[in-house]
Amino acid sequence: MPLVSSTSMLRQARRHGYAVVAFNVHTLEMLQGVVEAAEEAEAPIILQSTVGTVKHLGADYIAAAAGVAANRASVPIALHLDHCSDFELIVQCIRAGYTSVMIDASHHPFEDNVRQTAKVAEIAKAAGVNVEAELGKVGGVEDEIVVAEHEALMADPDDCARFVERTGVDTLAPAIGTAHGIYKGEPKIDFDRIERIAAKVDVPLVLHGGSGIPEAQVRRCVSLGMAKMNVATELRIVFSDAIKAVFAANPEENDPRKYMIPAKRALREAAIEKMRLCGCIGRARH
Ligand SMILES: [Zn+2]
Repeated sequence: MPLVSSTSMLRQARRHGYAVVAFNVHTLEMLQGVVEAAEEAEAPIILQSTVGTVKHLGADYIAAAAGVAANRASVPIALHLDHCSDFELIVQCIRAGYTSVMIDASHHPFEDNVRQTAKVAEIAKAAGVNVEAELGKVGGVEDEIVVAEHEALMADPDDCARFVERTGVDTLAPAIGTAHGIYKGEPKIDFDRIERIAAKVDVPLVLHGGSGIPEAQVRRCVSLGMAKMNVATELRIVFSDAIKAVFAANPEENDPRKYMIPAKRALREAAIEKMRLCGCIGRARH
């Protein structure tokens, strides 16, 4: 089937208490690896690319590759643009075939965030594309967006309700204590806040900074209404480590297939584990 919007798969996930995993991919092999994992797990999946990867590969290349993967696959696949504050780039990705976009104006004051998000929601909805927005500040480092940890501000539940109502977003990423990258200690997730936000907002919630959160904490987030979990850093590490292992054993290796194939295999296994954790195994069956 063609690429689908993530809206219905995420609504279903929230309704049934599981999360769809959104994997950031940077190469064709990474894209294929997570799609193979989704097929094996019979799980819906979201392929994500960062602004940096769109600039590196091109939105048209990514959308074409994701489109081929979706057409071949028996599970629903959505293609999402992660954290983007550039309106033109969002439009470019929608034109290229992305079925979901994130407008991240969370670094602006509330009213500006509302205005910019509503503008994107208007054009995206006309194209049948899912819109995700962020409220509060998710800490850490992700591509070109850097937020100092001490600056990380959590989302207010009442603001979340007003934000969703005024912008019409399909999915909301509230800052609840997670951070991008790999945690130095345990993340300090504010579960009470997730519960209060979920009570006021019925759209699927998105968990950013999903790499390295202890399993029990991920499960708790999902049970409270987090219906999409973003995984980026962990996959990059698994993929790169597998390549490093090939070169450690054979420094003279010069056939890309010899290191890409094991890297893809390692990625596939890691992706299936994430899907199991989020409870989405077998959810593509109905
Ligand atoms: Zn993020």
